[in-house]
Amino acid sequence: MTTATVEGVEVDTRHWIGGERVASELTFTDISPIDEQPIAEISAGSSAEVDAAVQAAKQAFIGWAAMPRDERADLLRKVADGIDARAEELARVETRDNGSLLRSHRRSVMPRVGMNFRFFADFAEKLDHPGGEIRGHRERVSYDPAGVTAIITPWNAPLMLATWRIGPALAAGNTVVAKPPEWAPLTASLLADITHEAGLPAGVFNVVQGTGAQAGAPLTAHPGIRRLAFTGSVPTAGVIAKAAAPNIVPLSFELGGKSPLVIFADSDFDLAVSLAVEQFDNSGQVCLGAFRILVEDAIADQFTEAVLAKAKTIRQGDPRDEATDMSCLITRQHFERVDGFVRRALAAGARAILGGSPNDELGHLYYRPTILVDAEPGSEILTEEVFGPVLTVQTFSSENQAVEMANNTRFGLAATLVTGDPDRAERVSAKINAGTVWVNCFFVRDLGAPFGGNGESGIGREGGIYSFDFYCDIKTTVFSPKGWTTND
Ligand code: NAD
Repeated sequence: MTTATVEGVEVDTRHWIGGERVASELTFTDISPIDEQPIAEISAGSSAEVDAAVQAAKQAFIGWAAMPRDERADLLRKVADGIDARAEELARVETRDNGSLLRSHRRSVMPRVGMNFRFFADFAEKLDHPGGEIRGHRERVSYDPAGVTAIITPWNAPLMLATWRIGPALAAGNTVVAKPPEWAPLTASLLADITHEAGLPAGVFNVVQGTGAQAGAPLTAHPGIRRLAFTGSVPTAGVIAKAAAPNIVPLSFELGGKSPLVIFADSDFDLAVSLAVEQFDNSGQVCLGAFRILVEDAIADQFTEAVLAKAKTIRQGDPRDEATDMSCLITRQHFERVDGFVRRALAAGARAILGGSPNDELGHLYYRPTILVDAEPGSEILTEEVFGPVLTVQTFSSENQAVEMANNTRFGLAATLVTGDPDRAERVSAKINAGTVWVNCFFVRDLGAPFGGNGESGIGREGGIYSFDFYCDIKTTVFSPKGWTTND
């Protein structure tokens, strides 16, 4: 079988290498988290397929890098059009594949996927080469394509996270080998069809399916890659950094988080409550999620009660149902991991004021929205990334203590502050150690703004010019006023 029909959409289950579908002898089973049913048998790539894809990308790089920027941008805008045209199919397949809400895919995720191509195509066209002057010499800065780019991504927002790297890499003039997540591999295959239909030359975009160990590892160690963008967990990042080190490949890492939501007594109360409950989105499988709620003790009881009341109205169920607010976790393995964190926290003295266990009515991989209080300071539940629908609530009594608690983490991806005092917002945001700080809002993202994490949350920044700083080889050329044999 080389295709699977998922939610009425035919998906090719093979790799996409050099403009052709390529099958592997071995396959792995893709299981839907909604009901734990197998939905596709996917080609399981290994070093042979990775090598073929890198060679194809190297070949294609010559023509793609030389193509005028505006022509490249036009092709990428056609990819964006193709994504928009097939957004509903992509949404349905992704929902079946990773269990995220269909309504979110329709409303925000798939439009953003198209934007990941359109924004960076437009941006690349305007990449300027500012001409400076140094002691009478003219200076030029140019953004040159760097080569084959490896892109390895996770399952929690598979197509959005992959295209956030693929868009700028291709717009920079690089060619790409993508290794999608084995727990949600399907929409990457549909993207390959879309790039083909849009007219991308063979080999410019390649997809090698497979597990991290079998397909990811040989890609990260391949001497033919010139950039490596990885989104995933901290332990995997360590393995990848070692594998890539001998080839001196520039890395961009977007990793985990344990972000705080800091709520001051002067905040807009309803807004603070809404922002807290919003953290259950995507069943808490969100790198940016602010799962550590820190609330000023003067309003702590009232706040916790209000969050509890609102969280109780969350409708959990099948993600294909428009009325569902929260669905399931991605795999049995991940489900056990999340449950393990909660069980250990409860055994260590934390109290669940909501949830704290699987949803037995729904069965399968449905875990109840969970709020834990009274966790021991420094305990695992307050320091490790759970990546599930689990919030903790702690209290603070002063601004300094709030900052200290917010920064008490190895991570530094994001932080959210809720306060009614603009001076406090300035003071506290300046002291917070995070790549992104939201004040009285959450998840507002501009593709032109730098995005990334501090500490164990990552290496580098992407977005706008920061993406091109990573994906390009930046060159300075200095022209002397002397030595010319013609005056033209
Ligand atoms: P993961 O690290 O297990 O896997 C991510 C990808 O790496 C997958 O495609 C996997 O196949 C591949 N991989 C695994 N081992 C590999 C190896 N040895 N060599 C090469 N590739 C390998 O992460 P996950 O569980 O899929 O994703 C969840 C993690 O991703 C969380 O920590 C989350 O915070 C993080 N994340 C971060 C961001 C961000 O923007 N900072 C966004 C989303 C998710």
